[in-house]
Amino acid sequence: MFTLKDQEKFWSKVSKGSITECWPWKGGTNGKNYGCFRDCCGTVWGAHRVAIILIKGHIAKGKVVRHLCNNSICVNPLHLAEGSQADNVGDYLKTGVYPKHPVKEPSYTQEIKILNRCVIQNMAKKLLD
Ligand SMILES: [Zn+2]
Repeated sequence: MFTLKDQEKFWSKVSKGSITECWPWKGGTNGKNYGCFRDCCGTVWGAHRVAIILIKGHIAKGKVVRHLCNNSICVNPLHLAEGSQADNVGDYLKTGVYPKHPVKEPSYTQEIKILNRCVIQNMAKKLLD
């Protein structure tokens, strides 16, 4: 879906830290603190969605990408999770905050634990090279 050039361009606009830190997007935003990425075809994507696609290959149909760290400018794939619009609405009803999708600390640690160690190592190797 994204060319190698797109991928290089994308990661060059990310301020990468350790795998537990937030990785702020350095490129343009949509004015609401969500990163925007323009691919070689001129299509503009949400930067956080691109991060998930580059790691997982796709986003399941109808799914939205949520920030587990509640930092909308962050594109660390480990801080992002696919969810349904219903999850978002659930977050909104629970917290009254929208669309930042806050998730409490336990869910965040759970998500990290779910990711198998090998996947994290491979990802870190690939991204931090
Ligand atoms: Zn983050």
